[in-house]
Amino acid sequence: MLLKMSSLFLRTLREDPAEAEVASHKLLVRAGYIRRAAPGIYTWLPLGLAVKARVEQIVREEMSNAGAQEVFFPALLPREPFEVTGRWTEYGDNLFRLQDRKKADYLLAPTHEEMFTLLVKDLYSSYKDLPLTLFQIQNKYRDEARPRAGLLRGREFVMKDAYSFDVTHEGLVKSYQAQRDAYESIFTRLGLEYVIVKADAGAMGGSASEEFLSPSPIGEDTFVRSAGGYAANVEAVTISAPAASSIEGKPVAETKSTPGTTSIDAVVSFAQENLGFTDITAASTLKHIVLAVTDVNKKRSLVVVAIPGDREMEPKRAEIVFAGCDVEPAGDEDFAKHPELVKGYIGPVKDGKQFLGEKAESKIKYLVDPRVVVGSSWVAGANTKDNHTFNLVFGRDFDADGVADLAEIKAGDPAPDGSGPLELARGIEIGHVFQLGKKYAEALDLKVLDENGKLVTVTMGSYGVGVTRIIAVLAEANNDDKGLIWPEAVAPADIHVVAAGKEDEVYETAERLASELQAKGKSVLLDDRLKVSPGVKFSDAELLGIPKILIVGRGLATGEVDIWDRRSGERRSVKVELAVAELA
Ligand code: ATP
Ligand code: MG
Repeated sequence: MLLKMSSLFLRTLREDPAEAEVASHKLLVRAGYIRRAAPGIYTWLPLGLAVKARVEQIVREEMSNAGAQEVFFPALLPREPFEVTGRWTEYGDNLFRLQDRKKADYLLAPTHEEMFTLLVKDLYSSYKDLPLTLFQIQNKYRDEARPRAGLLRGREFVMKDAYSFDVTHEGLVKSYQAQRDAYESIFTRLGLEYVIVKADAGAMGGSASEEFLSPSPIGEDTFVRSAGGYAANVEAVTISAPAASSIEGKPVAETKSTPGTTSIDAVVSFAQENLGFTDITAASTLKHIVLAVTDVNKKRSLVVVAIPGDREMEPKRAEIVFAGCDVEPAGDEDFAKHPELVKGYIGPVKDGKQFLGEKAESKIKYLVDPRVVVGSSWVAGANTKDNHTFNLVFGRDFDADGVADLAEIKAGDPAPDGSGPLELARGIEIGHVFQLGKKYAEALDLKVLDENGKLVTVTMGSYGVGVTRIIAVLAEANNDDKGLIWPEAVAPADIHVVAAGKEDEVYETAERLASELQAKGKSVLLDDRLKVSPGVKFSDAELLGIPKILIVGRGLATGEVDIWDRRSGERRSVKVELAVAELA
């Protein structure tokens, strides 16, 4: 490939786009790779398309190596299959829904589980046809609440989605492993740093699931890892509950006046300074969070969750506890309807009797953190203004309707598998592998005949790679104050040849070297613009970020050209006749 900048559809910009906050977004727009068409929706320009094609090619090759076959579905899909699996509703506001002229419902696909399941059902009927893994590289549509950072979180984006079909669970585990291995090859070839973390299957349903996160300060995912090898998305950490202890001999519960102590800090210092409870800390108290939970039928009800007072609720963990429902902190209207909830003084017990709970006085569902085990002792509000109860023992003084593991994970918390203290870091999800199991096959009735002629439901996996998100991640990890610095595997061209001078000889030599490089199998971008100064050409070369730059300029007088390494900045002269061999 030889692209000539004299005719290439490209305009580089000196100014950052107003809406861009992160480096990758600014640079991809300034360097003329993408243009915004609407919030979270981007147009691909020639250089951007070249990068995208190279990323897609690597994904395609590794899918093929893993035995997956490529197909291509429409993005515009009918409602029915999504109605059958429940995702038409479950997807909520994130789904782009539309109607045709006959008022029939359609959607723009956010992923394609339903369609792949139906396609296999359509054509296959025997265990002999399986295992099978199919994939596509295709546009996905999600009406994200907060499209962000250019390609990082788009409303239209490219995903590689693959789906495996097996008769047995052992087969599924093998197919899953093959995809997982392929992902490792893809991200290694792309030069992307990644961590594989345990994930929650979330709205997709199913069991085992892992995410590939690329560590980055601009990442929206928080993950934890221990020195001993445990790694999980913060949403997926299930904390290990301490052992229950004996109730016997624990001091009796007592309610004390604690005036003006609506915060945890205030209760703790009041108890230490005025009540002689010197060993009480925030971790000895229970913080009672009132949540408004709206289920699929739009029924809104309150749930109170108790967590240790030294922690906050982690909203992403709460979403998993209440999967399928909308969760938000209760608002003023909710509290107005429930005057029995005394803000700042909510607790499980009132006047010595259980107060929170579906069967208790308040009738409000009451869930507790897994650390609240039988025999554990706590400080909590007494459900009357300016009062708290001390030495409340779980299993003796109060009970709960269930457990809710939604408190934040803190650095230093023990890893659930005993592999040491956890550290927290941020990352960007670049891939996701799921063992879906039979959820979709059951809903859509995908069955095959097994060896004994009996119909069995197929078990499935689904595997996604964020192709366009990866381009943003690569741009974010590979730039400097001058511009982009593409890894060789994805650069829009292998070599950027710059004709830096006015003389015909400069242009002729640049053109000749470019063709020679091309003949050696290199893709070349040639800056042959006539009325552009060398200075501007150099700064454009830095902005565009092709890793190797060949400068044909003044040195020609002594038979030399310059090879400039964009990443290291190193620039050295070589004899013209050796340049092609050096670069090819
Ligand atoms: P996120 O948690 O970031 O919203 P997700 O878990 O909803 O992502 P999946 O359904 O697992 O995403 O999709 C597979 C892959 O597609 C993700 O790992 C990610 O790389 C990519 N992806 C998902 N949503 C977007 C988006 N809005 N823009 C760009 N890429 C995306
Ligand atoms: Mg995911």
